[in-house]
Amino acid sequence: MEIRREEYLFAVEGSEMTEKKTNYKKRAVNVEDACPYAKKCGGCDYQGTAYEKQLKEKQELVQKYVGGFCKVRPIIGMENPYHYRNKVHAVFDIAKGGAIISGVYKAGTHDVVSIDECRIEDEISDAIIRDIRGLLRSFKIKTYDEDTGYGLLRHVLVRRGFHSGEVMVVLVLGSPILPSKNNFVKALRKLHPEITTVVINVNNKKTSMVLGDKETVIYGKGYIEDTLCGRTFRISPKSFYQVNPVQTEHLYGKAIEYAKLTGKEKVVDAYCGIGTIGLIAADKAMEVISVELNKDAVRDAITNAKRNQIKNVQFYNADAGKFMVEMSEQGADVDVVFMDPPRAGSDEAFLSSVVKLAPKRVVYVSCNPETLARDLKYLTKHGYRAEECTPVDMFPWTKHCEVVCTLRK
Ligand code: SAH
Repeated sequence: MEIRREEYLFAVEGSEMTEKKTNYKKRAVNVEDACPYAKKCGGCDYQGTAYEKQLKEKQELVQKYVGGFCKVRPIIGMENPYHYRNKVHAVFDIAKGGAIISGVYKAGTHDVVSIDECRIEDEISDAIIRDIRGLLRSFKIKTYDEDTGYGLLRHVLVRRGFHSGEVMVVLVLGSPILPSKNNFVKALRKLHPEITTVVINVNNKKTSMVLGDKETVIYGKGYIEDTLCGRTFRISPKSFYQVNPVQTEHLYGKAIEYAKLTGKEKVVDAYCGIGTIGLIAADKAMEVISVELNKDAVRDAITNAKRNQIKNVQFYNADAGKFMVEMSEQGADVDVVFMDPPRAGSDEAFLSSVVKLAPKRVVYVSCNPETLARDLKYLTKHGYRAEECTPVDMFPWTKHCEVVCTLRK
């Protein structure tokens, strides 16, 4: 069902709820025809709930946890909350009748729910997965059986750069050899000339991890690039990259705005992943020190800095808490700390070192309002004041909610 664009015009970039919202409410009868796979798939918590209502609930959730610390601005929702995921994963299997199927694991099981298209996934990626499924028989490629270890194709992962248009297909196989791989790539690219690289990943373990360690590039350069907030980032099969690029630009934009950089600051970007926030902030600061635990992500971050010719960012592969303790023991000078920890939030080693380093400003990007509240409690008890926060809907139809919060010494 088509949903008219203006029906979703609300709270975009800080604007207050509009008159249209009221109109929308009056018209909002059965606007959301629930996804046919919703019950079996279980990936979305909010199927059957109007998008407007999802945003309202997320706003209330953030208000509940963070409202006691600071003003909560209106959530930044999506104008078009569909097909936002730039990374699509499908598991392959044989249905009872013998047909090849691809889709997702039913929530909490290893039963495959056959899915042709998903309303939150990128449509081109979904089409590529369907067409791969269609090619398997003629190429005599069998799907992998998790119980017996027999067969070849386990999963397909497609990642698409929404700005660049580059597309990466990762074929996850149970063993390293894909018969007539060149012809397979040729046939696939005939259907989808937009594919810029194809990688074979071997995963022969009994595991629920999708990707194995070994990779062979069979077409193209083995990674894609995409731009975000004016910077170009390299995305390899295993790199972490935000799955909703449209909203990520809002999120990072807000984080940078909140940091109030003037060009003179010494900045820390903690839990930096592939370096995104620090690299985007670099031209507005004097110097950026970025820290990240995952070695591969740090490697990507260094590549990204070079790719964008950014010279005032240094990357450290370390535990953010330990790193900050060291920095504070050395009496380092820091003006602004960006922190973007995983769902579990930060730790006391990190937070107490922030307090000791005493930056003028802390910008906290959180994917979990509950742990954000816990960490805000610590910081506000130790000399910081939370000024305001803005929720950003990075994951429409799911209950997850991102928040960016700014604190001042
Ligand atoms: N800021 C990045 C990544 C955020 S995800 C972005 O927006 O893309 C959180 C990151 O924290 C992950 O990359 C994860 O590897 C990293 N991480 C988790 N625990 C950590 C720790 N103890 N110290 C440093 N980094 C950690």
